[in-house]
Amino acid sequence: MPLSGRRFQPKMEKRPAWLTKRLVFDPAVQETEAVVARHRLHTVCAAAGCPNRSECFARRVATFMILGDVCTRGCAFCGVRRGRPEPPAADEPDRVAAAAAALGLEYVVVTSVTRDDLPDGGAGLFARTVTAIRAARPPVRVEVLTPDFQGDRAALETVLSAGPAVFNHNLETVARLYPRVRPQAGYRRSLEVLRRARRFGSGLVKSGLMLGLGETDAEVESALADLREAGVEIVTLGQYLRPNPGCLPVTRHPRPEEFDAWAETAKRLGFRAAAAGPFVRSSYYAAEVFRSTGT
Ligand code: SF4
Repeated sequence: MPLSGRRFQPKMEKRPAWLTKRLVFDPAVQETEAVVARHRLHTVCAAAGCPNRSECFARRVATFMILGDVCTRGCAFCGVRRGRPEPPAADEPDRVAAAAAALGLEYVVVTSVTRDDLPDGGAGLFARTVTAIRAARPPVRVEVLTPDFQGDRAALETVLSAGPAVFNHNLETVARLYPRVRPQAGYRRSLEVLRRARRFGSGLVKSGLMLGLGETDAEVESALADLREAGVEIVTLGQYLRPNPGCLPVTRHPRPEEFDAWAETAKRLGFRAAAAGPFVRSSYYAAEVFRSTGT
């Protein structure tokens, strides 16, 4: 649904003042929407109902979501549609590359739905997309935000072999909440994916957590320590916002100062970059967060 002419209306739960976000009205928003539509692509910005959408689109930034807009899992925090997806489109990598070039992106974030129905989990299409983007716009850097590929090492290495500047896989929440929040995933499995990516040695490794799902501070600190131990170098922490009534309710709204304190904690634990705030998402100002590592 186009953003133009709409205000972002918090619907599901009463939110504190710091979680009110004004829509940005700028012709670039429609231009970004038009580029995405013209190339018949999906963005996680739209699919997940991201509250930063007009702000990012006004900057001509979008996060491409490949492999369709139907997910084979049913994570309890996620608003992306669940069901039986279509077969992957072989020309999607070229369409993403063309759209990234049309937007003038020098840093491109590519994510996907989870495709447990595919033998390689979609890793091959991820790799071809990274390759196509880099070929179309040589100085470009690509960040991939992938599913766990069910822990399949070969699938992970297929993606990493394409040379993304950043490999991102979100831990999302603390260990205790996994059965409720990510029932088809595993806390240890996701850490192992990140550890393997670090050992593979190409690019930086990134992950993220959401706050507001019922975690305690001690559990968040423990998860951050686990991420560091796995070799993760960039971390994001943001507020969980319930995307629809079928998803888990929000348990709390940490104040902005609490997010600032988590960024400090992350730095103290040794992360090279930490982005934390109520509206922080994995891909929010991803290029700037990457540059802040000095890489
Ligand atoms: S924060 Fe990420 S997902 Fe949200 S609108 Fe911006 S680029 Fe899209």
